[in-house]
Amino acid sequence: MGHDTGATALFDLEGVAVAEVVRDEDGIRTVRLVTTDPAARACPACGTFATRVKERAVTRPRDLAHGGGAVRIRWHKRRWQCREDACERGSFTEQIPQIPARMRLTERLRTACGQAVADGGRTVVQTGRDLGPSWPVVMRATRTYAERHLPAALPTTEAIGIDETRRGKPVWKQNPDTEKWELVADAWHIGFVDAIGGRGLFGQVEGRNADSVADWLSAQPAAWREHVRYVAIDLCATFRAAIHRALPHATVVIDCFHIVQLAQRHLADLRRRLTWKQHGRRARKGDSVYTVRKLLRRNKEDLTGEQLALLKVELEYMGTYGRQIYAAWQAKELLRDLLGLAVHRTHVTPDRSAISAARHRFNAHVADHAHLPELVTLAETVDQWWNGIEAYVLTGITNAASEGNNRVIKLDARCAFGYRNRANQRLRSLCATTRRARRASPIHRACRCW
Ligand SMILES: [Zn+2]
Repeated sequence: MGHDTGATALFDLEGVAVAEVVRDEDGIRTVRLVTTDPAARACPACGTFATRVKERAVTRPRDLAHGGGAVRIRWHKRRWQCREDACERGSFTEQIPQIPARMRLTERLRTACGQAVADGGRTVVQTGRDLGPSWPVVMRATRTYAERHLPAALPTTEAIGIDETRRGKPVWKQNPDTEKWELVADAWHIGFVDAIGGRGLFGQVEGRNADSVADWLSAQPAAWREHVRYVAIDLCATFRAAIHRALPHATVVIDCFHIVQLAQRHLADLRRRLTWKQHGRRARKGDSVYTVRKLLRRNKEDLTGEQLALLKVELEYMGTYGRQIYAAWQAKELLRDLLGLAVHRTHVTPDRSAISAARHRFNAHVADHAHLPELVTLAETVDQWWNGIEAYVLTGITNAASEGNNRVIKLDARCAFGYRNRANQRLRSLCATTRRARRASPIHRACRCW
């Protein structure tokens, strides 16, 4: 069969030439290929170039669409006879790097599948529909692609973040023997991310306990572990214990977004408790506390002078309970003042005396209002986690990267309508959060304000 140089250049599959293109009755084009790569004649066992054709064969590997439409490939191959005396292999068929022996797909189609899923964030199902191969083939191609393109070794970083995400819904089942309801599936993934370098997700493990965290950390190369000086976490004692065990030299940094959230929660609890005390019911329109409930949630610097005056007047009008609510709001603001000293907010490394002065102001305020249990609890939590909080103020490291990744992971899982296979989900999450995919994804913005 002769070659069509123009069609060959257009088809552009290395190692073969287009002999002809014909349109079938169903309108789909069939591309007939012949081998041009001389290396295809080399015996895979001994390397000798064969000269005698044993028989001819036709294979039908799948390929990418061409010119906006599907094509069928007919590759006319030869089966060669190896005449090397010492060689055990009697005969072999031709193969080229783009279409290795027994492969049903061209390499470029396989790569396109992996790329669509791993980098493009498409679902496996949709990629199969777009490009042709079945689900398992696309999934295999994705795994191969990810292995090739995900960084082989963890990039070193000074700070990592650890966070957990729930995988799907918890499943309860009634035990037929005891008739008790038992939790049979409650899968959590713990994610390890680069907290400062923006290099995405380092790894994920299943489970929620200290062992799963410590095991993952201990399994990493010693050089990588030594490099990690800070670990950002939420207020999670389990994680803290695991870090002390696996990275004893590292400093735990508390993500202060959660401290502010906690202060807001305590303030809301106190407001509701005192509203009940005063009115014997929930706040309703016309009550002072109802008027100010939204202002209480705001930060001091976001209130206008009028709003601040309204807050004070209304709470004063409420009497004792109102003054107590105001004291709780002040406590929250004093805590925010303390956290606001953090280096990434002021761009100046705070000195320890400024930090301890701010801490003292908060503690003294709480001591003055020790009859308010919500404030006492808040101050106790701050004490328990003080080292981590101070580390945050001094370094400005947060767990925002974890939260950003978690959003991408959840979005990814929603696109796929959930994952049944956990290993696949971890692989997809890794791909979705690496730089390559994030560049393509407009939703990856880890921005938070408090
Ligand atoms: Zn041979």
